[in-house]
Amino acid sequence: MADQNTDKLVATSQALLPFIESLPDAVVIVNASHQIVLANTRAAEMFGHEIAAMMGSDLKMIIPAHHRKRHAGNVTGYFETPHARPMGAEKRFSGLRADGTGVPVDIMINELTLDGAPAAMALVRDVTYQRALEDRLTLESLTDEMTGFYNRKHFKTQLKAQYAGFVRSGLPASVIMFDFDHFKAINDQFGHASGDMVLIKVAQMIQRELRPTDVGCRIGGEEFAIILPNTSLEEAAAFAERIRQRTEAMELRHEDTSFHATITVGVASFSKSDTSHDSLMRKADSALYAGKASGRNCVRITRDDEATPLASP
Ligand code: GH3
Ligand code: MG
Ligand code: MG
Repeated sequence: MADQNTDKLVATSQALLPFIESLPDAVVIVNASHQIVLANTRAAEMFGHEIAAMMGSDLKMIIPAHHRKRHAGNVTGYFETPHARPMGAEKRFSGLRADGTGVPVDIMINELTLDGAPAAMALVRDVTYQRALEDRLTLESLTDEMTGFYNRKHFKTQLKAQYAGFVRSGLPASVIMFDFDHFKAINDQFGHASGDMVLIKVAQMIQRELRPTDVGCRIGGEEFAIILPNTSLEEAAAFAERIRQRTEAMELRHEDTSFHATITVGVASFSKSDTSHDSLMRKADSALYAGKASGRNCVRITRDDEATPLASP
């Protein structure tokens, strides 16, 4: 049986230097004590250090502080059982530049014997462009293009995460669902493009009202939902009433005609009787439909699985 180290590179720093300088990627070679023993010019440029400053330094100089402990454990583990690791094996890793900023990188690692001692050679590739593209595609897949709100898929994911937080630590969370009133009539009277404009303007108004942790979503044609983490039923109902009033007050125009749109809003919060994230959605939905049944342009809340008026009309 072939020795697993048969193909391992055995080299001296002097002999390896021209080779690593010729590579298109940054190269950082470390010894079993986690010291950088060789780095190429591309590595120095990528991390913003002089090569001389990198040589002999602990590898942690190019590892973000929050990741150092785990990374040091990984390096120690690597020297215990060395193995070749291809590019892309670890997702979303970042290096640390001298100016304190991060650089998204992909890393390939191989073992070698350098100057008679075991070493690990990392080929480090700057993936800033790919990472930004990946982030943009992910965001696009979760966003409604027309309003800029998140889509139904993201709504479900976030609601699930909120439910997990509620079960784990009892963190309150509320959901607001709303549907435009008689939207068919708006389309019929002013055209589909005007209908679209109403959805966009109301979404923009609401977006300005949201806190950074709130998640505004378009979950259907003219149906929206907002997840309000860390928010009681009463606070959520007050917020719902505010956006209902602001929507009603918003002056909309189609050519020379001005008009107004209204929404009906259902509000619910996680409670002990909830068995999944879905039950919160069902509670908000039933409050919304109670609001539609009672005449629209109002806020209804579901308390103990029963939709009740927010206030006497
Ligand atoms: P209700 O008060 O009962 O909700 O009455 P509604 O007319 O709003 O009825 P419903 O919610 O069932 O219908 C929604 C209408 O909204 C139907 C559809 O043509 C329209 N709509 C859905 N998505 C869009 C959209 O993206 N743009 C426009 N302009 N109209 C949409
Ligand atoms: Mg509607
Ligand atoms: Mg609808």
